[in-house]
Amino acid sequence: MARNKGKKKMGLTTMIFISLILGAVVGAIINTWFMDINVVKNVIVEGVFYVIGQGFISLMKMLVVPLVFFSIICGAAAIGDTKTLGSVGVRTIIFYLFTTMVAVAIALCMARLINPGIGLDMSAVENVSTTVSSSSTKTDMSIVDTILNIIPTNPVAALANGEMLQIIVFALMVGVILAKLKEKAQLVMNFCTQCNDIMMEMTMMIMKVAPIGVFCLIGRTFSELGFSAMVPMFKYMITVVAGLGVQCFVVYMILLKVFTGLNPFKFAKKFFPVQAFAFSTATSNATIPLNIDTLADKIGVSRKISSFTIPLGATINMDGTSIMQGVAVVFVAQAFGIHLSPADYMTVIVTATLASIGTAGVPSVGLITLAMVFDSVGLPVSGIGLIMGIDRILDMLRTAVNITGDAVCTTIVAKQNNALDVEVFNKV
Ligand code: ASP
Repeated sequence: MARNKGKKKMGLTTMIFISLILGAVVGAIINTWFMDINVVKNVIVEGVFYVIGQGFISLMKMLVVPLVFFSIICGAAAIGDTKTLGSVGVRTIIFYLFTTMVAVAIALCMARLINPGIGLDMSAVENVSTTVSSSSTKTDMSIVDTILNIIPTNPVAALANGEMLQIIVFALMVGVILAKLKEKAQLVMNFCTQCNDIMMEMTMMIMKVAPIGVFCLIGRTFSELGFSAMVPMFKYMITVVAGLGVQCFVVYMILLKVFTGLNPFKFAKKFFPVQAFAFSTATSNATIPLNIDTLADKIGVSRKISSFTIPLGATINMDGTSIMQGVAVVFVAQAFGIHLSPADYMTVIVTATLASIGTAGVPSVGLITLAMVFDSVGLPVSGIGLIMGIDRILDMLRTAVNITGDAVCTTIVAKQNNALDVEVFNKV
């Protein structure tokens, strides 16, 4: 102890951020100069980076189902009466839907301004995209299915298959009933609380290796992602990034200021490590634990609220994903010379919002639910093949926006329910 005195220990979040930068630099160096060397490609990139990176993602995924299940049960039981829970739930869902619709509208406006698909050299794009697997265009998600899918006909199967929405619905009901039964179900309540504590502790343990996992994930992505794949798609990427930027730095920050009065810059600074983590892993689900912890320890949001709203947001609120989908619609329509009417744009706003609910918080799923949006306005689903090649980097960016949306909405809902400790937020 005494030895460490005076020497400031580097926080986990700082370490994650440093790993992210280091990973990107090392990856870019490998991609530019060393990818031709067999040992580097097969042993370092496809061996060490891949195994450690995927191992880390698997560890995070391992946490998700039990963590979400017990945390929602405990969250719902802690909120107690169904009236408060209902009001928190309804407000959260309204915020989530509202921000997603705004996101799609921004994406459509941006895309109409920049016109990413006009004057596109299709042959250049096709060369790039055909080298990437085309399996994810096989999908058949209808709106009705998305809605009906919320009810778990078999809760055990839902848990086993990681059906997040179904798990949330079931856990919510268990939590509400536990709160209602009080002492009669004390044993089960204690069991759930202890399971929740175990999952939180496990999360802390796994997070200790996060800097290494992040370094390997980013290192591999940048080693493989040659700049050549990006050039023909540059305008599309710029449009998506611009939409994400507006949503993250304008829409969220205004909402935060107006509804909570908190300083948006301070919020952004404190929340940045969570975004860096989401960026590296490209999965909202894996970011749930860090998001809840950061909101509690640095922003002052009570876990009572966040343990319910963050997993819900990671499952149904994907503003970044819907921005990509909005831009993709305009891009593919322009590339294929298909005219979209104002009614089509309205349809896209509605279907992309529903697609956001149906998108699981894991890498690349946004591309799959994009088929549903394309279908709704008669665009060829094969158009997804055009953007597949460069989707990984955009997936990372949009995931960071997805989880920021969850955190901002959660902070607002916490404020409205007197569950925001401003003193914690103001602490340096
Ligand atoms: N990777 C995104 C997330 O986890 C989902 C997607 O857009 O593919 O939030």
